[in-house]
This record gives sequence, structure tokens and C-alpha cells, in this order.
Amino acid sequence: MEAIILAGGMGTRLRTCVEDLPKPLAPVGGRPFLEYLLDYLYANGVHRAIISTGYMAEKIEDAVGRRYRGMCVDYCREDMPLGTGGAIKKALGMCKEDYAVVINGDTFYDVDLFEMQKAHEKGGCPVTMAAKLLKNVERSGYLETANGRLTGFCEKGATGEGLINGGIYFIDKNALDCINDEKFSFEKRVLEMILLPVNIFESEAYFIDIGIPEEFARANSEKDLLISKRKRRAVFLDRDGTLNKDTGHLYRIEDFEFLPDADKAFAAIKKKGYLAIVITNQAGIAKNLYKPEDADALHGYIDSALCKEHSVIADGYYYCPHHPEAVLDEYRTVCNCRKPEPGLILQAVSDFAASGIEIDLQNSFTVGNRRSDLLAGINAGTKYNVLIGSDEPDAAEIASAHYESLFGFSNLEQVL
Ligand SMILES: [Zn+2]
Repeated sequence: MEAIILAGGMGTRLRTCVEDLPKPLAPVGGRPFLEYLLDYLYANGVHRAIISTGYMAEKIEDAVGRRYRGMCVDYCREDMPLGTGGAIKKALGMCKEDYAVVINGDTFYDVDLFEMQKAHEKGGCPVTMAAKLLKNVERSGYLETANGRLTGFCEKGATGEGLINGGIYFIDKNALDCINDEKFSFEKRVLEMILLPVNIFESEAYFIDIGIPEEFARANSEKDLLISKRKRRAVFLDRDGTLNKDTGHLYRIEDFEFLPDADKAFAAIKKKGYLAIVITNQAGIAKNLYKPEDADALHGYIDSALCKEHSVIADGYYYCPHHPEAVLDEYRTVCNCRKPEPGLILQAVSDFAASGIEIDLQNSFTVGNRRSDLLAGINAGTKYNVLIGSDEPDAAEIASAHYESLFGFSNLEQVL
């Protein structure tokens, strides 16, 4: 999934609380609010975030950079204010998929994007809007709907229960091409005038608008609620011989080469909403052939190649530097992370759990070209253990029954 964050607003409502910062960087519980939004998108399966910036654009670009956890980050800068509609239209022009999720940079609404994505695909409308049921709509006005579609807006003043716009949308890439103006308001021009059919997706999830000073104060005391908790499936991938050619103790960037179509398959894994986590034995460190920094640099290079070509990066690289016969004392040990031991996978599970993402091992994959790769998956509890392109004939015996004969990593996409 690709996402657009609207972060170009002037932040006038908040100016009394936060000086010299664009509103999305206002600190909540000691961290910029924008980080909570990026964490939210990440937990919900987004692989690429496009941040629409305008007011104090450099501050936002400097604070976030080009990668955030397992997401590529790009920027779409407005040279003059384009309004929400103009900003969305411009950012949609950078998207590579059929639709993108769009969120406001000053609200947090913990909608399950996997569910909303299904509703968008089924709904048959170019726009799907997340809507929250409020007990009292006196201050906000409410949405009029019929058969799950938007039919109108009721102004402020009415009392009682009603749905409000939660500020999260799925919008088809070409949906706004019918508007020729560069500058327009998405709310007024598209939603209020119902220029396009809008599907309503109701969600009771936690909602907060930090643009309102009282709500900003509440966000600070409720920061634990600003963490999206999701269960995710993962693909644990071996590196050498699976993702790239195994040249033996590979560590030089110039020696790195993806196996045919392995990078495409990697991108497909991410775009289907799986976490893609690389799990690799690096005994070359124990043998003093290269250093952990060399492995880190190589992984940084792999990410930059994937990001450039496919707008994806890995969700993590975990490697075992140990060996029982290591040259270096510090790495000479029988550890629980060298495959076939499951330590690296279990470490990843534990790290993700700490940030609210529960890896669903029961529905996850381990992929490799060696018996030890598959055993690591089996020992950790991944359900599907896929052998590809192996030079070990007996390894197929332990692969998950119907996935044992995939010849080449690029075929993996067919079974996900
Ligand atoms: Zn180890």
C-alpha cells in the first residue's frame, strides 16, 4: 500500500501551543506527532509514504529522511498552498499503484487499513472515506449517508448521534483528473459537492485531532493510545543463495547481485502486506573476514537498490555473527541464533512485538535454499517453510508439503 500524509498545513489553530514547528512535528509524549502517523501507516502494511509538504517543508524532510522503519519515504512539496485537493492530486501523480490511502497530518484515527482496503476494493467507488460515529455531533456537523454511500453533509448545530468524517480516505490514482484546477479543497469541492461517488467505511477506532488545542493536550496524556496494534504475517528470507548469488562470505557491495527476479518477488511480498525480514548466518564475521559494519553497509545498499527500483525496503536484517570455531573469541560460541536454531526469527518477533506488531507465525513463511534455513523456520514455528533452488536434495523432505518444489524465488509470489 502507498500512503499520502497531508502535512503542508499552516497549523494556525495550534500556534498558541507550538512555536516554530509545523503542526505535524508538534511533540506528543516527547516525539513528533508525525512519527505516530508513520508508525500507524507502517503497522497497517504501508510500504511507501509520500509526505505532502508546504509550510516549513525542510523541517519535516530533515526530521523524517528518506526511510522510516520498513517504508520508503518520498516528498511532494507545494511551492504555493494548493489546498487539500490540490495537494492530494499532486501526490497521487507520484503514486505507482491503482489507489492510495490519504491521511491528515494532524489527526490520528486508528482505522484498520487492511479492512478498509478490502472495503475500497469491494465498494466500487473512486473514494472511500473512514467515518466515526459520535454520540454528539453538535460541534462538528455530520454526514448523511444511504446504502453505505455519502449523500450529503449536515452543518454544525444539530444534536444527537451521527457519523463524522475521520480524515482517512482511499482514493483511486486518477480520481481527481476530472478537476482541472491546481488549487482546490478536497472537502468542499469533492466531498461536500459529492463530485464523485464516496463509499463510507465506519470504524469505531480511537480518534484524536491535535489541531484543536484541548485535543492536543489530551493526546499528550493518551500517547499510549496513539499506537496501532496489528497482527501481521511475515516472510523470513534467507539472503545468500536465496535473494542474491552466493559468492561465499559475501560482504563487498560490488559483489552483490540479485538472483533473477528476486528483487521483484521481494517487492511483491511487501506489496501484498507481508513483513519481509532477512535472516542470515554471517560466519564470515566470526572468521574475521569482515566486520559487522560491512554487513550493515551491504544491507543498506540492498535497501537502496530495492527502494530505487521498487519503492520498498526490508523490514529488518537479522544476522548471526557467531561460529563454534570462530577465530575471534567474542564470536566463538554455540549460540541460539545460528540457523538451524530459531533465535534470529524469535528475536524479530520480540522486536516487532515491542512496537505493537504481533507477527503471526502460524501464517508466516520461511524461505531458503538450505535445510538449515527451513529448520530455523520449523523450530521457530512458521507454518510454511519453502525450499527454493536448493543444492541439497534431502532438504525438500522437510519443506512444507505443498511448497517444496518452487524453483526460484520469483515463483514465491504465486503462493503468497
Ligand atoms: Zn549466533
